[in-house]
Amino acid sequence: MTSSEQWIARADRVIMKTYGRYPIVPVRGEGCRVWDADGKMYLDFLAGVAVNNLGHCHPKVVKAIQEQAARLIHCSNYYHIPSQIELAELLCSRSFAARAFFCNSGAEANEAAIKLARKYSRETFGPERYSIITAAESFHGRTMATVSATGQEKVQRFFDPLLHGFVHVPFNDAAAIEAAVTPQTCAVMLEPIQGEGGVNVPAPGYLQAVRAICDRHQLLLILDEVQTGLGRTGKLFAHEHFGIEPDIMTLAKALAGGAPIGAMLAREKYAEAFSPGTHGSTFGGNPLMTAAALAAVNALFDEGLLERAQTMGTYLVRKLEGLKAKHALVQDVRGIGLMVGMGLSIPGGEIVKQGHTRGLLLNVTHDTVLRFVPPLVVTEGEIDEAVAILDELLAAAGG
Ligand SMILES: *Cc1c(COP(=O)(O)O)cnc(C)c1O
Repeated sequence: MTSSEQWIARADRVIMKTYGRYPIVPVRGEGCRVWDADGKMYLDFLAGVAVNNLGHCHPKVVKAIQEQAARLIHCSNYYHIPSQIELAELLCSRSFAARAFFCNSGAEANEAAIKLARKYSRETFGPERYSIITAAESFHGRTMATVSATGQEKVQRFFDPLLHGFVHVPFNDAAAIEAAVTPQTCAVMLEPIQGEGGVNVPAPGYLQAVRAICDRHQLLLILDEVQTGLGRTGKLFAHEHFGIEPDIMTLAKALAGGAPIGAMLAREKYAEAFSPGTHGSTFGGNPLMTAAALAAVNALFDEGLLERAQTMGTYLVRKLEGLKAKHALVQDVRGIGLMVGMGLSIPGGEIVKQGHTRGLLLNVTHDTVLRFVPPLVVTEGEIDEAVAILDELLAAAGG
């Protein structure tokens, strides 16, 4: 058997260095646990970055993939695909949306949203109306359009010229959006809770105010729910917490229980703008991925995981608040459902590494924010276990 060390040495020779990878080689997973190539077990509080909402290798997803793989893996969007149709019906019946477009990732879903907003706006208001307002510290993906939409210099640098037509304003500042609207503006694009930007929760009234601005100026509201969607926050979609609906929503990460997929959903009025030949994807919505997604979304409901994300999220936050009371370097605990961040007064990288040694997979984002996005199937016992490890790590880190 190949050891972790051997795999890592081989990776060093052939894998592009786009990620600063940790020296861990997970080869098997079940529920909230993964095992590496040396047989070491980890408790997974990153869940593939909010992808494995159902835990690893959920039996219903595994079965759906196995059965569909044996029947038809791929055919082409030149034909109708039953599992794609059923998935669109399910997502539309559970949301504001009338139609869905399927692709393969979050970035692609956002690309599709940007293209749809621009095409609709050009055809409705004229070719000058193409600009999209997005937030500082946002993250929308790694393609050229989504890098341009992303409000983080570290993602954009090296890739000039960026796509023209994106304006960045501070998050949680509706007045800044209002002030940025010009005759060129066609849409506002936001994450309901910023993920990569440090688990930034919207201020009370913020998203409602943004919705009102969009209505007043006839702008499309695009919500990037790639990370917040599919039960992560205790609702199917995070915007449900705020009593508003977007015009376009993008999904990806957890949609197919770990299989790669993206989706862009829209109201009928806007969806109409995509006519045959105006957008597409070879693999998008293919039989295998949509069968996996159908099983994954149904499992969220069948197993009561939205409610579970709320109760376990409340439990996790209470436990982390306990650590805050004990350790001076913990600044704050924030989040909704099982999307939780803990702000530190120091960079979190070393704590993450020490967590790995102790068998806990966790993550730091925005340098100083520990991000907790465990599978929604996580138990109180597993939360206790993670918090106990974290307690020791914080003490060792100096407070
Ligand atoms: C992860 C993420 C993306 C990018 O998704 P990919 O599948 O990596 O392209 C876009 N938006 C948000 C909010 C994300 O969290």
